[in-house]
Amino acid sequence: MVERGDVEPGDAGGRGDDPVVIVGAGLAGARAADAVRAGSAGRVVLVGEETLAPYIRPPLSKEYLAGTADRDSVDVHPVGWYAEHSIERIAGHRAAVLDRAAHRLTLDDGRTLRYSRLLLATGASPRPFPGPGASLPSVHYLRSLDDSSKLRAALAEGGRRVVIIGTGWIGLEVAATAKGYGNDVILLGRGAVPLEAAIGAELGGVFEQLHRDHGVHLGVNTQVVELEGETRSGGTRVTGVRLSDRTLIRADMVVVGIGATPNTQLALAAGLEVDNGILVSATFQTSDPDVFAVGDVANVYHPRLRRHLRVEHWANADAAGAAAGRALLGDTTAYDAIPYFYTDQFDLGMEYSGFGDLAADAEVVIRGDRHDRRFVAFWLAAGQVVAGMNVNVWDVNETVQRLIRSGVQVDARRLADENIALEDLLEPGS
Ligand code: FAD
Repeated sequence: MVERGDVEPGDAGGRGDDPVVIVGAGLAGARAADAVRAGSAGRVVLVGEETLAPYIRPPLSKEYLAGTADRDSVDVHPVGWYAEHSIERIAGHRAAVLDRAAHRLTLDDGRTLRYSRLLLATGASPRPFPGPGASLPSVHYLRSLDDSSKLRAALAEGGRRVVIIGTGWIGLEVAATAKGYGNDVILLGRGAVPLEAAIGAELGGVFEQLHRDHGVHLGVNTQVVELEGETRSGGTRVTGVRLSDRTLIRADMVVVGIGATPNTQLALAAGLEVDNGILVSATFQTSDPDVFAVGDVANVYHPRLRRHLRVEHWANADAAGAAAGRALLGDTTAYDAIPYFYTDQFDLGMEYSGFGDLAADAEVVIRGDRHDRRFVAFWLAAGQVVAGMNVNVWDVNETVQRLIRSGVQVDARRLADENIALEDLLEPGS
């Protein structure tokens, strides 16, 4: 499908008149297109493999999966918006080859597109289960709206035995939603505690207890080695998961949530530097000055960390996408936002801001009651707040961000004291 496109096979033209081309019509690509349109009257082409207009993914494991948010609520813009703003959409086509020397992109149907500047916003794909049975029927992965619709239809029947592999954010969110439909949910993780790698064992324990309290069966320190299936007259379907100790856990359906890998194929084949994502500067520029990358696929130099950081979060796709759009037009402002994300599971809502890498060896300070699941946790490294997470406490995340950004020395006891306003800690020496 081409919307307002005048792209033809072998389309050629002078470089100066060539459009800005954005590959990947997810949130980052859409926000970049918005920003290019806001700053220039020139042509903008948004190429997306999915047929749908850009949509946001967080509801796909939460409200949309639960059936409490409707289809339209996930759209970044109403479908007609792109044409109204003269953003040319090429939907349902994959960008197959990037020829940097010729400033030319070839699509999967052989069409070619010249570009003046190009942005790669190709996102990430779910990591497939690495053993036998990875693609049996009733084995679900969750990335697209279609994945979520199919999973929703399967979960909504209720009364099914759902085995979820992976105790990261997606696994936990799907577990909560699946339980809400009245399914028997078994959540299996490799670590001793869910989310240990993301937020450490102590705070991962809060999520472990939350799920146990809501009747989710949690298996820790487990390794699934095979997904087993059975063929009956109706076809083959998954029947269970086999653990490394040979235990078989029966399943009516399986959800695999073991992480995502950045979609770097196009960049790699084009000879761009790739290391855990496409390596770009703080202004999203690759080693080629006319090719940029942003969103889940980009490993972006962070001026504060003085190293590259790949962020797989909605807020990053949103804000960095817009910043990359401005960079395509020549803006040289370094992007230095503090990573932010949120989750909703059962009756727990959480926001997190900060640098997980710096938090790894930091002291954890809790303000509030962890057992009540109403608190703010801080990670203190060398007396500075490097990350903070508010759980069922609201309107504080902005202050948490200010504390991180200020780099001010904070006393752990004062940080834990709910009688001292967080804002007061922003004063040096307070
Ligand atoms: P994507 O959204 O992956 O979009 C990339 C697009 O590019 C895709 O449409 C893809 O098909 C397309 N594409 C890839 N290769 C090509 C090609 N060669 N040619 C053309 N098109 C191509 N983050 C949070 O902060 N909080 C949450 O609660 C949260 N929940 C989530 C729940 C789910 C189920 C998922 C999947 C993600 C969640 N995230 C959450 C993460 C967040 O959605 C991502 O960080 C965000 O979608 C990244 O946006 P993106 O535009 O970089 O990539």
